[in-house]
Amino acid sequence: MRKFLEPVTIVFVALTLGFGISAFFSYLRDRTEPLIPFTKSELSHYFFQEKVSHDELVYKYHNDQPIKILLVAGHNDEYPGALFENTREVDLNIKVANYIYDILKNNPHFETYVFQKEAGVFDEKISVYLGEKDHIENFKTSYQRLAKWFRGEDIDAILDDSLHTDTPEEIIQTLYAINAWANDGDIDIVIHIHFNDVNGRTKDDIGNLSGFSIYTPGDELINKKVSYELAASMEKQLLKILVPSDNPEEKDIIIKNDSLIALGAFNTLNSASILIEYGFIYEEKFQSEEFLKNIARVTYLGLQTFLEK
Ligand SMILES: [Zn+2]
Repeated sequence: MRKFLEPVTIVFVALTLGFGISAFFSYLRDRTEPLIPFTKSELSHYFFQEKVSHDELVYKYHNDQPIKILLVAGHNDEYPGALFENTREVDLNIKVANYIYDILKNNPHFETYVFQKEAGVFDEKISVYLGEKDHIENFKTSYQRLAKWFRGEDIDAILDDSLHTDTPEEIIQTLYAINAWANDGDIDIVIHIHFNDVNGRTKDDIGNLSGFSIYTPGDELINKKVSYELAASMEKQLLKILVPSDNPEEKDIIIKNDSLIALGAFNTLNSASILIEYGFIYEEKFQSEEFLKNIARVTYLGLQTFLEK
């Protein structure tokens, strides 16, 4: 029986992927019987298996196959993130992304993409995805429904998006568009670049927290293992020039999170993904271009040590 089931399941899943996950959901919604002969665990085996592994990336790196990196400077012109005096977080994020890009661009081990080279100026390929709003909405809801179905929840129930109430819809769309593009473009590693802030601080004040943290996918997500290993390599290198966050909620430095879209919420991302908060925007050292270049250099070392293993 198992011998029969396996190929049938594979064909079914292949057809499903061919039709698109949304077609699969129309099918699920329209049927009243349980999905036979495919059990949830059989299906989950195919949907929820790791797509990018650390070993595979190390193999590629050592065998002259370029590692595809996507650098995402967080926020945009309209929603610039944290502010300190005349510094906008988006501009700091972009500076660091461009410095990392400068280090990687001539290295044959890497094929590097930068989400935005200046505030609001997006990579051509990603722009196409940003323009296809219906496609991205479909991508988002299909994965959300899939996750709910596997959890045994009503797939048509409105998702509790309360975690993201303070995130503008446009940013949510952008982050899902990045994930869709990263999957289609076989990106190996996504690095989200951010600077942190404390709640309730006025623009010109110095806050009471400092230090870096790294967010990595939680245990529900298929890219958790490879991402955590990348985060661990990154942490070692960042500690050379940065201090850990003294926010008690970030005391582990590496923090697992299932609900950040950047990390692949609802399993919308195959790539390894980490989100680095390099420190708090008002820390004086971030006003120095030299220091930002050093941040880029240690980020590169984090990547390199992860891939050389
Ligand atoms: Zn940010």
